[in-house]
Amino acid sequence: MKVALLEATPDPEEVICRAARNDYMSEYGAEQSFADVMADIDGETLEDRKRTLISHLLDHGHFGPFEHAQATFHVEGMSRACMAQLTRHRHVSFDVQSMRYVAFDDVDPAAVGDGELVVTPPSASDPDWIGRNQQGGAVDEETIEKREDVFGNAVERAVADYQELLDLGMPPEDARFVLPIGTKVNVVMSLNARMLMHVADMRAAADSQWEIRGMTEDVLDLAAEWCPITFEHYEARMKNRKNRLAP
Ligand SMILES: Cc1cc2nc3c(=O)[nH]c(=O)nc-3n(C[C@H](O)[C@H](O)[C@H](O)COP(=O)(O)OP(=O)(O)OC[C@H]3O[C@@H](n4cnc5c(N)ncnc54)[C@H](O)[C@@H]3O)c2cc1C
Repeated sequence: MKVALLEATPDPEEVICRAARNDYMSEYGAEQSFADVMADIDGETLEDRKRTLISHLLDHGHFGPFEHAQATFHVEGMSRACMAQLTRHRHVSFDVQSMRYVAFDDVDPAAVGDGELVVTPPSASDPDWIGRNQQGGAVDEETIEKREDVFGNAVERAVADYQELLDLGMPPEDARFVLPIGTKVNVVMSLNARMLMHVADMRAAADSQWEIRGMTEDVLDLAAEWCPITFEHYEARMKNRKNRLAP
């Protein structure tokens, strides 16, 4: 899977600070320089003041100002299983690659078992991989070879059958019914910094599945470049806290 930052609020932490300061100023902030807006906040430099205010907001659960900073990410090659998990988050906007207008008729079914078109879970080839709620432990080499065979054959056959249905004139949006839930999809998603922290609370957590957890970590790395004070603070002081409301 690949994750890229497509577009984002250009100076997110100035917007967050201006929004937060607005709540406590009698003056109209838009007609003041950012330095003037931040003058009453502790710190030697403007950067220090931003850090003071943002840390204070996050430590005190004052999350509203973080809704003004928005980012759009482009994800390549997540499984449709992972997409079903991600799209449960209702304050995120999505565009999802269509299986009506995109037909995977040029994919070689023989390459599907090697990761073409369908995501291969690590447990298909790693004998030591143990699922979170799995009763058994690691398996031997013979078992893992069988797993690899069964998984590879199943996905190759599914794609070959899908392509045969296309050749028989079935519409792509109907032929897709035989494709595996691991079939890859490209997704564009937009969300604000507050929601990003909420998604990370739930999806970077240890009980989340490896694929969405990996995607979330990639999104967090990009967010730390885009909105550094906020996401450095999130990483250091908030990540892995117990989510209180869901699931
Ligand atoms: C490890 C894991 C396992 C899961 N297993 C399952 C499962 O087996 N089955 C299943 O169905 N789901 C499952 N989920 C999905 C989970 O239950 C949530 O539906 C999903 O993560 C969306 O998160 P959210 O509820 O915080 O809502 P979001 O859409 O992310 O909304 C963010 C917040 O906004 C508020 N909010 C949004 N909409 C409403 C509303 N209508 N009313 C009130 N408050 C609202 C809530 O405070 C919510 O926390 C799982 C999630 C995880 C992380």
